[in-house]
Amino acid sequence: MYRTHNCGELRIENVDETVVLSGWVQKIRNLGGMTFVDIRDRYGISQLVFDENVNHNFCTKARELGREYVIKTQGKVIERSNKNPKMPTGDIEILVDELTVLNKSEVPPFTIEDNTDGGDELRMKYRYLDLRRNTVKKNIILRHKMAHEVRNYLDENDFIEIETPVLIKSTPEGARDFVVPSRMNKGEFYALPQSPQVFKQLLMISGFDRYYQIVKCFRDEDLRADRQPEFTQIDCEMSFAEQEDILNMFEGLAKHLFKAIKGIDISYKLLRMTWADAMKYYGSDKPDLRFDMKFVDLSEIVKGKNFKIFDEAEYVGGICAESCAAYSRKQLDALTEFVRRPQIGAKGLVYVKYNEDGSFKSSVDKFYSQDDLKKWADVLSAKPGDLLLILSGKRNKTLTALGQLRLEMGKKLNLIDNNTFVPLWVVDFPLFEWNDDEKRYTAMHHPFTLPKKEDIDLLETNPGEVRANAYDLVINGIEIGGGSIRIHDNEVQQKMFKLLGFSREDAENQFGFLMNAFKYGAPPHGGVAFGFDRWTALFAGIDSIRDVIAFPKNNAGRDVMIDSPSTISDEQLKELGLKVTKSES
Ligand code: ASP
Repeated sequence: MYRTHNCGELRIENVDETVVLSGWVQKIRNLGGMTFVDIRDRYGISQLVFDENVNHNFCTKARELGREYVIKTQGKVIERSNKNPKMPTGDIEILVDELTVLNKSEVPPFTIEDNTDGGDELRMKYRYLDLRRNTVKKNIILRHKMAHEVRNYLDENDFIEIETPVLIKSTPEGARDFVVPSRMNKGEFYALPQSPQVFKQLLMISGFDRYYQIVKCFRDEDLRADRQPEFTQIDCEMSFAEQEDILNMFEGLAKHLFKAIKGIDISYKLLRMTWADAMKYYGSDKPDLRFDMKFVDLSEIVKGKNFKIFDEAEYVGGICAESCAAYSRKQLDALTEFVRRPQIGAKGLVYVKYNEDGSFKSSVDKFYSQDDLKKWADVLSAKPGDLLLILSGKRNKTLTALGQLRLEMGKKLNLIDNNTFVPLWVVDFPLFEWNDDEKRYTAMHHPFTLPKKEDIDLLETNPGEVRANAYDLVINGIEIGGGSIRIHDNEVQQKMFKLLGFSREDAENQFGFLMNAFKYGAPPHGGVAFGFDRWTALFAGIDSIRDVIAFPKNNAGRDVMIDSPSTISDEQLKELGLKVTKSES
């Protein structure tokens, strides 16, 4: 028998019991006639004691153990004289009377401790050792719990988990596909799914009514810290459901997870903010509502004083940073630098200090009187001691830049509490998005999204204004998921393809099977998909989704542990009918 207990469960109640434990050697300490060994497994750590006076040979054997050796040990649980309140097993230790080395270990390339000495790259290379570390392991266990609770909730609500294929053809999410060459059909390729979108819609036509899947999706995009080429979605679809039904059902899922995983009761109905308001007040379609600092549109009141930049701007907007009027030149310069970064793209920043004595000092004093500035302060609800920060320019670009500045100020002023969660639905997304490179509209969500009935007339005349039955779940400024009500009418779908610039053949070629299925009684349906990695990372309190994935890829899309991607043999290439050309770059 390898164990009677695990390494994390023995307590003072177990004193005098004879137990068998198996696990890894975490640490060895020799203190006079005693040798202490910490034994670790998935559940925790227990302290073993080897007493020189009881068994000399034994102690010698213990001293020969190395870090990460796998051992089996038998002994009696005794009360510790020197208790460790930081360890759950800290009240006891095991006085060993049998020790077996099950396997030796080389010295690990980094310490298996919370604060390890191993750098990122090294830990990725030896990820299986990294996963022994509590800080990493606990995220993987959290992920499991999340998946379990997702399944519990959805199962209770009659959802059926159905697997969909991985070797498919292009899906409609619009990112770049990963492709797999087909040996049996030389010159032809499968695409890996960017999501199971078309399959879940087909399952609605099949009558499954409520589907879900915790599923791998693949998108060949440039990677950032919060992206992985393969990631996991909680993918869901419902028939005979309107937007309201879907929001309620998945608001229920969110509340269930908050309660089950974080112990947080969310008794209120989630706020629903239109996309237009989210942009207008927070400059983002995923507003972080843990703090306020709403934008105020100053476009009208700042005009007509010969300040050309404001006079010519399509939009002028400001935020009020409380108690920041004392900001130094250097601090203001740093903020100007911040908004000028290429990824933010503002040309400059106008500030107005509302001094404690009620006077104003601004970067545009030449153009505006104290009275003018007082008016701005009033519309921004500023008090003496506050600082107004103002950006101007093209409307959408300025709103987004102001959104970044708002977040930056939120961070600087410590307004963002990581233990607070503010979930909301952002609704009424635009149906289309203008693609300036291609000079045409593309689907903001995907081409199966149903336009709002009230906006149908605008489809041909003013597509940019058409709103969709599309929604996102946002928590603390992070898009946790999104979905839409789908078009279930073949004619509307054809029209949509046309508006999106698909030729009849293209549409037929890419989605013909779906259009054909729609001829056989498609029920009204809609759905949503949540980023499972991201949601887990949020609940784990970490920024990068990499840390909640057992075997993630690095920022270059490489798995440095198994060394992938890698070349394949000439034989394999031949079988697949492929030739590799060396790229110039
Ligand atoms: N398939 C969509 C996505 O991955 C989600 C949905 O519409 O259900 O974004």
